[in-house]
Amino acid sequence: MARKVIIAGNWKMNNTAPEGSALVEALKPLVAGIDAADIVVCPPFTTLNAVVETACNSNIKVGAQNLHWAESGAFTGEISAAMLKEAGATYVIIGHSERRQYFGETDATVNQRLRAALCSGLIPIVCVGETLEEREGERTDNVLSMQLSGGLAGITASEMADIIIAYEPIWAIGTGKTATPEMAEDTHCFIRGRLIEMFGADLAEKVRIQYGGSMKPENAAELLAQPNIDGGLIGGASLKAASFAALIKNAIG
Ligand code: PEP
Repeated sequence: MARKVIIAGNWKMNNTAPEGSALVEALKPLVAGIDAADIVVCPPFTTLNAVVETACNSNIKVGAQNLHWAESGAFTGEISAAMLKEAGATYVIIGHSERRQYFGETDATVNQRLRAALCSGLIPIVCVGETLEEREGERTDNVLSMQLSGGLAGITASEMADIIIAYEPIWAIGTGKTATPEMAEDTHCFIRGRLIEMFGADLAEKVRIQYGGSMKPENAAELLAQPNIDGGLIGGASLKAASFAALIKNAIG
């Protein structure tokens, strides 16, 4: 089944508003006319407005890197779905491994954030992935299974149709170590298998599963050639317009 490729850049805590605008300004002509892939950049909160304005009238969409589940209230330092929408974001990353590792994100809070995103019409990118220790201990399937059942608890099949999953082996993020295409495909197959069990085959076949972890222009084509790899969530290689554009072009072939 044909699933549209989606390539999203996670800028993490990089780029001020002028820097982010300059990056998108440089990216626009490099990806102009590409419609075989959804192209998304996810800047820090403070840079959203400027990037949305710069990306206006282009094929580049803008996402946030996190959201809080409440509509408003005493949650110092947090940002609501409505605030992201107001800034012009259309996507949101949820449960990135750095949030899980450094900020106490759990499958339960991923689930709460996911519900808030769906209620507001933001397109969620839900991240899952195992540590090196878990992979070496042959616990990858268990870990992913728990992340999927906890993170997606109570989600209906029609809601699942709007959700993107990003498989990011933690040992491959920012390390230069990429899962081999075969290893990544095996794990994507496992994830799709779990989605089939949870939501049925028709729906699961439509869900886009991105790979993330040291994806770059040089390895994008072979990763995306795998039947169950539908895109990429990109950190380092999304911080330069030329490398992000080259990666997108190689991904769609
Ligand atoms: C990420 O942070 O989601 C990521 C995949 O980073 P990198 O591409 O730098 O490994």
